[in-house]
Amino acid sequence: MKIEKDIVLVLSEKIVAELKECNINASPTESCGLIFGDIKKLETAKDDYQIQYTGKRFYCLKSNIESYGSFALIEDSDKYFEIHQDAVYNRQLRMISIFHSHPVPAYPSSIDIENMKYLDKDIGTRRNPFKNQIWTIMDMNTEKINGFIYYNKELLQIDLQIKNK
Ligand SMILES: [Zn+2]
Repeated sequence: MKIEKDIVLVLSEKIVAELKECNINASPTESCGLIFGDIKKLETAKDDYQIQYTGKRFYCLKSNIESYGSFALIEDSDKYFEIHQDAVYNRQLRMISIFHSHPVPAYPSSIDIENMKYLDKDIGTRRNPFKNQIWTIMDMNTEKINGFIYYNKELLQIDLQIKNK
């Protein structure tokens, strides 16, 4: 898979600890959740840009459909509305990442890839709010995390950075 160094997801150690806790609490079922924060376009050199997604708040969700984690939460519109109210209206954050864990290595499954492609499509004339989200995937056992994005019809692994702050 192609690695895209110009798309960065920055997570604090605090958020990473919350992802691990979410994973442990759901085990052996896949955990899932949503990360909110902000997205900035930074000029790193002349005409060279980096897109930086910064996580500020994580919402852990219970997945009720085993092995179908992240997609189930998108269909739970009441829960999604509640999170959206808190993150977007109360905290002025935007959704930046869909999180879930895997019993197998932290790479998108074929179902994940289908979902990423599905969410890349707009709904009529409206932009799909789940479009261009980073998919953060954790290996349930090793707690290793990787980030992926489906961008311009291409699946990319992004640069995930964990910051101590
Ligand atoms: Zn998956």
